[in-house]
This record gives sequence, structure tokens and C-alpha cells, in this order.
Amino acid sequence: HARTHAPEPIQVFEPAMAERAMGRLTMASRMRQAIDSGELTMHFQPIVDAPTGEICKLEALVRWCQPDGTQVPPAVFIPLCEKAGLVLPLGRWTLDSVAKACLELAGAGHGELPVALNVSAVQFQRGDVAAQVRAVVNAYHLSAHALQVELTESSLMDQERAVPALRALRAQGTHVSLDDFGTGFSSMSYLRDLPIDSLKIDRSFVVGVDTDERAASICRSIIVLAHTLGMTVVAEGVESESQYSWLSRNGCDQIQGYHVAQPMPLPSLLAYLATRPPARPAHSRAADTG
Ligand code: C2E
Ligand code: MG
Ligand code: MG
Ligand code: MG
Repeated sequence: HARTHAPEPIQVFEPAMAERAMGRLTMASRMRQAIDSGELTMHFQPIVDAPTGEICKLEALVRWCQPDGTQVPPAVFIPLCEKAGLVLPLGRWTLDSVAKACLELAGAGHGELPVALNVSAVQFQRGDVAAQVRAVVNAYHLSAHALQVELTESSLMDQERAVPALRALRAQGTHVSLDDFGTGFSSMSYLRDLPIDSLKIDRSFVVGVDTDERAASICRSIIVLAHTLGMTVVAEGVESESQYSWLSRNGCDQIQGYHVAQPMPLPSLLAYLATRPPARPAHSRAADTG
């Protein structure tokens, strides 16, 4: 072709590019297959009210178990889905499986427990998340509060886009949490300007909360900041009694982590919930704004 006389770069780059394109194609079709053929499953992790230890909501966490039994963590395969152009099908699968879980929870007498789902920055930027949530809430006849959304700071960097999207979520009663708080692009202006209901303190700060004065200072500051702005605070990755009690003593509203419970598939969750004392009505839960 026209560039046959061009120097080396083409010889060097062409095979690599082809390989990369092939790799992407294989990955895309494998991811597509995973979504379509039931290789994804949703797990649910309880979040408890810190002072009472009562379960007040659940977080939905996707799992990919390949046919050969290999487990691929979401932190690995979600970026792959995004590169493969599968943001929409993945998002649709997630919403659908969370909505189905809400129906089963309600059927088992746990209709008061909202389920929070994670929305990646790419998903938030590409689609109308409020409309997607509304559609599934309507299709499954769920209460407006049944589904919640977790976003990361990177979703909010484009404030012109984030403001109307968050207002739409707020207007329809979809509670929004800011996930992994403190690890991303932390600008105080979005906390001031955006309608966010709660902050989730990232696990990296929780790890040392009971042993490291600097980690403790950061957590204390996040708790004060959130409360001053009228938000609820959730600590994630709580693995010990001593972390739990530190957080509870220092005013953290809600706790999530292996110390309370691992993420589990829906049947295990229903069995787990059945062993817990029945929850009091939502209006008597002091710290739950949810
Ligand atoms: P995340 O939303 O911050 O979720 C919390 C992660 O911490 C989960 O990892 C959970 O299993 C893990 N975790 C919970 N408690 C503990 C603990 O006590 N100790 C430790 N070491 N880890 C704990 P997972 O399930 O691997 O998910 C990783 C990330 O993948 C999530 O972080 C979220 O950003 C993303 N993700 C998960 N499911 C979905 C989904 O359905 N859609 C999208 N877009 N992203 C998802
Ligand atoms: Mg999350
Ligand atoms: Mg998180
Ligand atoms: Mg995280």
C-alpha cells in the first residue's frame, strides 16, 4: 500500500496492533458471553447501623466465575468490560439482578432493606443512571428507596455533567453514596455543591484506625466533615472488633466489613438474615437516614 516504503515503525507496530486488536476481540466476546450465559453472579454484603449492630442495607458486589472455576475479581473484569464496550450490558445485568434480589428480599420479609449498587465512572458518564434506576424500579414495582447507588470521586470530576445527574437521582429518591472516599480526586467543592447522601470511608483509612494516630485523624475528620454537611458516614473494610468499636465511639454511623459479614450469594444472605433478630421499623433507627 501507499506506505510500504515507510520505515520500520510499521513493521514493528503492525503485528503488535493486530495482536492487541485480536486480544481485545477475544476478551470482548468472552466478556459478552460471561454476561449472557450466567457466569456473573451477584453477592450481597450487609451494612450495619454502628450503635445497634442492626443490618440497615446491603451492597451488591458482582462476581465472575469462569466455566473452568477461575474467579476473576470485579476490579479486574469491570475495566475489561469497559474496554470491550460492554458498559451498558454490564450495567443492565447489574440493575436487573439487584432488582430481582429486592423482590426476593421483600418476599422473605426484608423489604425494608435497601440494596446499593456500584456504578463505575465510565457507566456514570456514558449513560443516564437516574433513568436506568427509575426504569428498573418501575419495571419491578419496587419502592423508590429500594435501590441505592455508589459512585466514586472520579464520577464527579466533570461537575457540569454530575450536578444534573445527581439532582435527578435525588429527585426520584435514589440515595447516593460516595465510595472509596478520600482515595480519589478529592475536591471539597463537590461536597459543598452536590447532593450526596453518604460518604464511605475507604478501607485504606480503616485499616489503621485503632493503631495509627494519622489514620485515626483522617477518619475522625471525614466523620466530622460528613456530619457537618448532613451526610451519613459508612466505614468499609472493617475487619476487627477494635476497628468497629473505635469507629462507633467516634460517631461513624454505619459499618461494613468481614468483621460483620462477608459478601454472599442471595440464598446464603437469606439464611443469614433469618438468623438475625427482626429489624425495628426504619423510623426508629436513629442513625439511618437511608
Ligand atoms: P467497593 O464498592 O469499594 O466494594 C468493597 C470491596 O471491599 C468489595 O470488593 C468487598 O468484597 C471488599 N470488602 C468488604 N469488606 C471487606 C473487608 O473487611 N476486608 C477486605 N479486605 N475487603 C472487604 P470486591 O467485591 O472485590 O469489589 C471490588 C470493587 O469492584 C468494588 O469496590 C466496586 O468498585 C467494584 N464493583 C463490584 N461490583 C460491581 C458492580 O456490580 N458494578 C460496578 N460498576 N463495579 C463493581
Ligand atoms: Mg461500593
Ligand atoms: Mg468502596
Ligand atoms: Mg473499594
